[in-house]
Amino acid sequence: MFDYLVVGCGLSGTTCARLLAEKGKQVLIIDKRDHLAGNTYDSYDEHGILVHNYGPHVFHTVYKDVWDFLSRFTGWRDYEHRVLAYVRGKLVPMPINVDTVNTLYGTGYDESSIAGFYESVREKDIEIKNARDMVVSKIGQELYELFFRGYTLKQWDIDPQDLDSEVTARIPVRYNRDDRYFTDPYQGMPENGYTAMVEKMLDHPNISILLNTDFKAVRDRVEYARLIFTGPIDYFFDYRFGRLPYRSLWFQFETHEMEYYQPAGTVNYPNDYDFTRITEFKHLTGQQSTVTTIMKEYPASQGEPYYPIPRKENRDLYNQYAQEAARLNHVWFTGRLGKYKYANMDIVVKDAMDLVTCLE
Ligand code: FAD
Ligand code: UDP
Repeated sequence: MFDYLVVGCGLSGTTCARLLAEKGKQVLIIDKRDHLAGNTYDSYDEHGILVHNYGPHVFHTVYKDVWDFLSRFTGWRDYEHRVLAYVRGKLVPMPINVDTVNTLYGTGYDESSIAGFYESVREKDIEIKNARDMVVSKIGQELYELFFRGYTLKQWDIDPQDLDSEVTARIPVRYNRDDRYFTDPYQGMPENGYTAMVEKMLDHPNISILLNTDFKAVRDRVEYARLIFTGPIDYFFDYRFGRLPYRSLWFQFETHEMEYYQPAGTVNYPNDYDFTRITEFKHLTGQQSTVTTIMKEYPASQGEPYYPIPRKENRDLYNQYAQEAARLNHVWFTGRLGKYKYANMDIVVKDAMDLVTCLE
C-alpha cells in the first residue's frame, strides 16, 4: 500500500514525489512514457550531442526557494539564453531592444532616446484585451507585424486578437541593450542535463518508479491512499465536458559537420518557413564537438499536448474540470497539464512545492 500515487515523471510529479518521500511517505510514481523527466527529457543523439527531445529548455526563475531546491540535485552551467530574430534579411536581438531598432531602421537611438521612439510608434489609449493589444500598446503595428504576428499565427494557428494577452506578455520590450532572453536572477542549465537531475530527485528509498505505465491501466491494480495527477485533467475525467485544446509541435533534428550552425542558442523565424525557431543545443549545454545538432520546431494541431492554449473559452472549460476536481477527496491536480496552465519549469516546481506543503 503506497501513501501516494504520483502520475507523471515530469518536474511537477518528480518534485511532489521527492518532497513527499522526505516527509516519510511511501510514493509510487508512474509515467506512460519510457523515460523520466517529462518534457524536459534530454538524451545523447547518435552523434554524441546532448539534445532536448521535446524542445529547448532553459531554466530561469525569480524564486530562490525553487532554485535552492533544484540545486540539491544538480550543479548549474552558467548560461544566459540569447535569441535572434530573422527579420528583413537580418538577425537582430529578440526581445526587441535598442540594437534591434537601430539595426532594423538604421537609426542611432541610445538608452535615453529609445523611449521617445517607442512612444512615437505605439498605439495609445488602448485597452489591452488580447495578445495583439499587448504588443501594439508598447511598440505599434509595424514592429508587431515584423516580430509577433507571423510567429504567433504559426505557433498557435490563432489570430493574436483571439489569444490572451499573457501569451505575448512573456516577451518584454527593452529600453536598453540587454540581449538576454530572460533577466531572472537565477538562470542556467543543469550541468549534466535535466534527466540526470530528475534521476537524482527520484533517488530516494521511499520512491518506487514505474515507466511505460498509463494511469488508467493501473488505477485499480495498485493500492494507494492518495493521488497526485500531473497528466491532462480532461483525460482524467474521460473528457466528460469535452476536450481541452492543446497546441502540439513536431521536431526536426539535423546534425551538421561544423562546430556551430548559428550565432545564438535560438534563432526565431517570425515571417519565413513553416518552423518557428531553430535551436542549437551546444550553445545551451556548452558541449564541445566537431559536429552540431539543431532542432527546428514545427507547430501542429495533433500530437503530444505541449501547450495549453490561453483563451477564455478554454479557461471556462478548464474551470468545469477544476470544479469537478475540487469535489474529489484525496486527489490533487498539478503541473502544466493538470492545471491547464502555460507555465514554465520553475512555476510547476513552485506549485508542486506549495501543494506538498499543504499535504499530510
Ligand atoms: P510534463 O513534463 O508534461 O510531465 C507530465 C508527465 O505526465 C509526462 O511525462 C507524461 O508522459 C505523463 N503522463 C501524462 N498522462 C499520463 C497518464 N495517463 N499516465 C501516466 N503518465 C502520464 N519551461 C522553462 O522554464 N524554460 C524553457 O525554456 C521551456 N521551454 C519549453 C519548450 C517547449 C517546446 C515546451 C513544450 C515547454 C517548455 N517549457 C519551458 C515548459 C516546461 O516544459 C514545463 O513547464 C514543464 O516541463 C512541465 O512539467 P510537468 O511535470 O507539469 O509536465
Ligand atoms: N512570440 C513572437 N515572436 C517571437 C517570440 C515570441 O510572436 O519572436 C510570441 C508568440 O506568440 C509565442 C509567445 O510570444 O508563442 C511566447 O514566446 P516564448 O518564446 O516564451 O514561447 P515558448 O518558449 O513558451 O514556446
